[in-house]
Amino acid sequence: MILSIALPTPLRRLFDYLPPAAHPLPALGCRVRVPFGRRHCLGIVVAHKAASELPVERLRAVEAVLDPEPLLPAPILALALWAADYYQHPVGEVLFGLLPGPLRRGKPAREVQKRWCAQGEGEALARAPRQRALHQWLAERGGATAGELAAAGFTPALLRELARKGLVRAVASIPPAVVAAPVAKPAEGPPLRAEQRAALAALDGEGFRVTLLFGDTGTGKTEVYLAAIQGCLERGRQALVLVPEIGLTPQTVERFRRRFGGCVAQYHSGLPEGERLAAWRDAASGRARILIGTRSAVFVPLPDLGMVVVDEEHDPSFKQQEGFRYHARDLAVVRARNAAVPVVLGSATPSLETLHNVERGRYRMVRLTERAAPRPPRWQLVDLRGSPLRGGLAAPTLEAIGRHLDAGRQVLVFLNRRGYAPVLLCHHCGWQAHCPRCSVRLVAHRSRNRLLCHHCEHGEPLPHTCPACGSADLRYAGQGTERLAETLSALFPGVPVVRVDRDSTRTVRTLEKALERIRGGEPCLLLGTQMLAKGHHFPGVTLAVLLDVDGGLLSPDFRAAERTAQLALQVAGRAGRGATPGEVILQSHYCDHPFFARLVEGDYAGLARDLLAQRRRLGLPPFRPLACFRAEAPVAEAAERFLVEVRARGERMLPPPAGCWIGPLPGTPERVRGRARFVLTVLGASRRALGATLAALCHDLESCRPPPGLRWSLDVDPQETG
Ligand code: ADP
Ligand code: ZN
Ligand code: ZN
Repeated sequence: MILSIALPTPLRRLFDYLPPAAHPLPALGCRVRVPFGRRHCLGIVVAHKAASELPVERLRAVEAVLDPEPLLPAPILALALWAADYYQHPVGEVLFGLLPGPLRRGKPAREVQKRWCAQGEGEALARAPRQRALHQWLAERGGATAGELAAAGFTPALLRELARKGLVRAVASIPPAVVAAPVAKPAEGPPLRAEQRAALAALDGEGFRVTLLFGDTGTGKTEVYLAAIQGCLERGRQALVLVPEIGLTPQTVERFRRRFGGCVAQYHSGLPEGERLAAWRDAASGRARILIGTRSAVFVPLPDLGMVVVDEEHDPSFKQQEGFRYHARDLAVVRARNAAVPVVLGSATPSLETLHNVERGRYRMVRLTERAAPRPPRWQLVDLRGSPLRGGLAAPTLEAIGRHLDAGRQVLVFLNRRGYAPVLLCHHCGWQAHCPRCSVRLVAHRSRNRLLCHHCEHGEPLPHTCPACGSADLRYAGQGTERLAETLSALFPGVPVVRVDRDSTRTVRTLEKALERIRGGEPCLLLGTQMLAKGHHFPGVTLAVLLDVDGGLLSPDFRAAERTAQLALQVAGRAGRGATPGEVILQSHYCDHPFFARLVEGDYAGLARDLLAQRRRLGLPPFRPLACFRAEAPVAEAAERFLVEVRARGERMLPPPAGCWIGPLPGTPERVRGRARFVLTVLGASRRALGATLAALCHDLESCRPPPGLRWSLDVDPQETG
């Protein structure tokens, strides 16, 4: 018997080993230690084979088996292998990448603690009162860990003394679960409305099917998930809930815990490693009944998985943008299919991919149309052409803001640009601040007194004079949230301005503080980036103002219009969630564009139909699968030449019309961290043909040494094509 093993290397292949001597055959999904070249490393057993392509005498044997039973149960192993193949990512990197750090480094799957217990008689310690106290303490509480001993004030030396005298012994024990047992009876939710009950009936039950739950914010999607999950728990199953990065707030977890008690575990990259590991263990052991997490949670084992929920399924954060570029929503569907359980995709603005799957009859759609708010918000397009602006705001916009504030309400202003100003320029000679390593301008962050690059870590102090000509006439052009906050404070003196973006809220706590203030309900101006668009409830906000959304129409990225619509409608959804209907203002230079006409009707379904028709005409996703090869190198020619070669090979395997090859074109930005970037895009007529070509190409590319300093990557179903 031969073991096929995945190793943490960037090679797209498995390695054959002989089973360890004098050890039962390790099961699939177990970690093993193997010799690799002159090193030793951990591997994961992926297959048992009858024979190897290599002669047996050249095979080496596994040195040790770390797991008595699979660390990766069969469904997770299958999902990971499927994903490695689909995304053409090295299988070892996929498997090791999905493990919490300590498990990746060989820590045991099950936590075992050493507890010290008293034994023998303490009488003998009459002359050592401190040792005797420790002995007695251990006897009374039935043992303690080293940490508990230290916390109670006993020194390690005391313990050593007792051990020497044979008055304590170490016992291995499984620590108590971090999560609590499921509550016998979950808290009551509100009685569901008729359309929610209909939705619940569609998603409740067993067997694989995908349901899109399409309803505006506030139409009660989460209540439907909660009710469906309750049914799932009652059947003795576990539930997996995926949420976008920004969506996983303490309130979200709180809402689930209020309903289901302590059996809810959370899993995301922001957790300390130890907590991540604990959540993984609780989920994998079945102690946690609900796992709620961001994209990486899709790979956490759940032995009794009964349903999967993907909230805000259109959110771009479900796609990993570097390394192993997987889409967690799509993998969630694959996982549910393999496990034969239902999956629910929820959104107010579903992705075109998902809507297309509904059109094709692959997914079912259930709509929720009744909002908790009285009426949908009223939209107003404010034409920027020729109109005088104050701080980027037109007169009708300023008037509306003033009116809502005077009425004691809150106003939300959305501007998706961080910092003070995107450009610092010299009025005398035209110099602009550029990043020395990237082909982008530096963004001025005045509160920090720095110029920062938003593509690398470069930062420098704000200059007082022009580095080119020495003039002191440096000016800011354009505005980010920081400058807008200043502008708004000046225009509306006395009104508090609460800014929410990545700079103003670097910790969850500062964000919570800002949100608390807003929830207090006092009139204020709430200003922020897309961080504001998601998940939060602001009942006091009655006006939402959207600035600078034209970029979405002008961008060369084919997803830009879809993104803009999603973001705009999400922001609009923040207005008027309380008792008063909301108003939304959108400023634009392109008010006649049909896109905005649809948008202001709040008609996302209609807009999506238009965009889908456009994509169909152009032969873009979701009608044809797309993939990008990216290459970067210190010298632009090297990156370009490499991709020209990739294209030549690829075109031989998948010539037009089966494959449509575009590029290589310079990336956006063209240079990052001193490295030039190029992109080669390919559209396939069928997924199968494209997948086979990508696999063959990656195999080819791997077998030849790339030019020195060149790095390449493949992105299947990219979210960004720059
Ligand atoms: P969504 O997830 O679509 O944004 P939520 O489920 O969060 O919507 O519901 C919005 C608000 O309406 C919440 O405060 C929720 O408790 C409330 N709500 C939802 N459904 C009902 C219902 N059937 N009866 C009363 N309140 C409800
Ligand atoms: Zn100058
Ligand atoms: Zn830079």
